[in-house]
Amino acid sequence: MCIAMNDDSQTAFGKRHHSVRSTTDRIGAVSLEQLRPQFAERRLLMVLLPMFTFAATASWASAELEGTARWFERFVLMPCAGAFLVLLLWNWLTPPSRVWRVRVATLFVGPALILVDYAVQLWELYSSGFDPKYYFNLSPWLILCSALFLFLLPSRVSWRFAIAYWAVSVLMLGVFLMFNSRVLPPFVHDEMLLNTVIAPPVFIALLSAFTRMRSDYTKARTHAEDLRELALLDALTGLQNRRAFRQSFKRAKARQLRNKTPLCAMLLDIDHFKRINDTYGHQVGDEVLVRLANVLTRELRGTDEVFRWGGEEFMVLLEETPGEHLELVAERVRTAVEAEQLLDKSTITISIGATHILPAEQDEVVYPRADEALYASKRDGRNRVTIIDAPDSARTTADFQP
Ligand code: GH3
Ligand code: MG
Ligand code: MG
Repeated sequence: MCIAMNDDSQTAFGKRHHSVRSTTDRIGAVSLEQLRPQFAERRLLMVLLPMFTFAATASWASAELEGTARWFERFVLMPCAGAFLVLLLWNWLTPPSRVWRVRVATLFVGPALILVDYAVQLWELYSSGFDPKYYFNLSPWLILCSALFLFLLPSRVSWRFAIAYWAVSVLMLGVFLMFNSRVLPPFVHDEMLLNTVIAPPVFIALLSAFTRMRSDYTKARTHAEDLRELALLDALTGLQNRRAFRQSFKRAKARQLRNKTPLCAMLLDIDHFKRINDTYGHQVGDEVLVRLANVLTRELRGTDEVFRWGGEEFMVLLEETPGEHLELVAERVRTAVEAEQLLDKSTITISIGATHILPAEQDEVVYPRADEALYASKRDGRNRVTIIDAPDSARTTADFQP
C-alpha cells in the first residue's frame, strides 16, 4: 500500500507525513524503519539478555555441581537469571520507541550484579587467606559489562561509562589491597593485575572502535536511505515523484504478469490552473496542489499509487482495476475533486486521460497514451474523463482481458 491515508491523519502535514512513511516502506528490500536505532537495539537486547541469563544459570549450575557454591550463587544468580528473562519478555512486548526503558533496566541490573559478585568474591578471597579455590576470573564479566555499555549507550558516551565501570572495579581492588594485611601470593597478584587492570581497557578500546565503526556505518546507511527517499518524493505534496514511477511501474508490471490482473493508468491535470495562480497567487496555487493530492489519496484505494508528474499534473497507477471499472474510478475522482472545496472562492475541476496497459506494454507507452486521452478531455471542454484503449497491435494471444 503506498499512499493510503488513515482517517485520523486529518491535517495536510499528517497526510503528507504518512505518505512519506508508506513510500519508504516500498523503497528497496530494506525499509528505513528496520534501520532505526531502536530496532537495532531491540535485536541486540534479544541476543544479550539470553546471554546473561545463560551465564548466570551456568555459573550457578557449575558452582553447585563442583560443590563451591557460595551464597551469591545460591541466592542471587538464579533470581538474576529470572530477572533477565523478565527483561527479555519486556523487550519483546515493548514498542520499539520505548525500548530505552528495557535498555536502562538492563544497564542497571547487569553491571550492578557483576559488581556485587566482585565485591563478594574479593571478600571471600581475603577471608579465606587467599585460598586458590576462591580465586575467580573477573575479566569475562567485565568485558560483558563493557559490551553492554558500548552497545546500549550512544557511542559518544559509551566508552566513558565502560571506563568508569572499570575504574570502579579497580578502585574496589585498590581498597581491598589497602586493607589487606597479608601478602598476596604472586599468582593472585599477577592474575588480578592482568584480569582486572589490564585486560578490560584493552577490550574496551577494541569494542569501542568496533561500535564506532558500526554506528558510522548505520548512520551512512540511514543517510543513504533518506537521500533515496528524498529523491523519490515530491517536496510540496509528499507524493511520489515522476522518478519513482519507473520503479513502481516495474513492480506493478511484475504483479500484473504473475497474477494475470489488469493494470491501468490515469493522468490528471487541473483545469485553468494558470488562472488560479494569476488571480490568487502562487502560494494559494501550492495549497490547492496539496489539497488535491489529499483528495486523490483519499478517493483512491490503498493499492493505487499517485505520483506528482510535474506542475499540476498527477499520474495514478491502478492495479487490479478491470476495464469496465476504469471509467467509474476516474469519474469518481473527477466528481470528488469538483465537489471538494479546494479553493474557498471558486470550484476547481480536473481533466482526466486514462488508459489500460496490456501485459506486453512497458512504461514508455503509458504517458504518451494517457496524455493523448487527457488532451482529448481538454479539447472537448475540460472537467471530463477520456479513455483510450491500448492499440490492437499491442495485444498478444497470451493476453488476458483487461
Ligand atoms: P489547462 O486547463 O489547459 O490545463 O490550463 P492551465 O492553466 O492549467 O494550463 P497549464 O497546464 O499550461 O498551466 C500550468 C500552470 O501550473 C503553469 C504554472 O505556472 C503552474 N504551476 C506548475 N507547477 C506549479 C507549482 O508547483 N505551484 C504553483 N502554484 N503553480 C504551478
Ligand atoms: Mg492545467
Ligand atoms: Mg498542465
